[in-house]
Amino acid sequence: MAQKIYLNGKLVPREEAKISVFDHGLLYGDGVFEGIRAYDGRVFRLSQHLDRLYDSARAIALKIPMSKKEIEQGVIQTLRANNIKSGYVRLVVTRGEGDLGLDPRNCEKPSVFIIADKIELYPEELYKKGLELVTVATKRNIPEAIDPRIKSLNYLNNILAKIEAGLQNMPEAVMLNKDGYVAECTGDNIFIVKDNVLITPPFYVGVLAGITRQTVIELAREKLELLVKEEVFTRFHLYNADECFLTGTAAEVIPVVKIDGRQIAEGKPGKITNRLMKEFRDLTKDEGIKIY
Ligand code: PMP
Repeated sequence: MAQKIYLNGKLVPREEAKISVFDHGLLYGDGVFEGIRAYDGRVFRLSQHLDRLYDSARAIALKIPMSKKEIEQGVIQTLRANNIKSGYVRLVVTRGEGDLGLDPRNCEKPSVFIIADKIELYPEELYKKGLELVTVATKRNIPEAIDPRIKSLNYLNNILAKIEAGLQNMPEAVMLNKDGYVAECTGDNIFIVKDNVLITPPFYVGVLAGITRQTVIELAREKLELLVKEEVFTRFHLYNADECFLTGTAAEVIPVVKIDGRQIAEGKPGKITNRLMKEFRDLTKDEGIKIY
């Protein structure tokens, strides 16, 4: 079956899903997006993703030409049209077609498109063994320039970090902020556990407000009755953590066992990490808007 793409209110075959070379999304990375998961016929935390999309859009003064309800219907329609029960949804809003100047006032109408596809995951083995990471030289964008809370189409900051990790044959990079505090990875938030306290960097360090991050904070408090702190920390704390893991829509909860050549604790996924992985997977089974 040919893949169907949602483009500005219509479902069209993949070959017809085209955007102008004058679209400022392409020319300047001027736009916003979301990555969303569907699990067994349910869309996970869709309203939180839509809230974040609209917040990102407002932050760049982009008026999305559709209501949240209409976009929600678009996401569901696209999944149905492609007969996907479990998969990944990419929702994108670009500034639209303009001229070669920067000025967004010359862009007539934002474009909205939605792609539903199968999901590419880290191999299951890595969830059992854990990831190895490296800290890279590329700093996370400073919030005073481009706030990392804006999930914009301009991902070059993250891509530069990913290139650095790739050159060292590492799957992910730890990005610090300009003051040397741990911020996040190129496509995931980061957590450590120390003395039974769960710690993750606060937003002002310069991190995306991850939907998985928030879900894990809730699970840790409600199901594991853990103390959770949003607190700054450095690489010293990473190296001396009892446990470390990443969170993201695609990766879910994934353990980290080595950073910059230093083994984290015993070099195995930690107890709290394993429990959160399981609680998260259980939650995805019975939460979310039904597609069918
Ligand atoms: N940080 C960055 C930079 C990301 O791009 C993402 C999502 N891909 C995340 C964190 C995780 O956010 P979420 O849990 O909402 O997927």
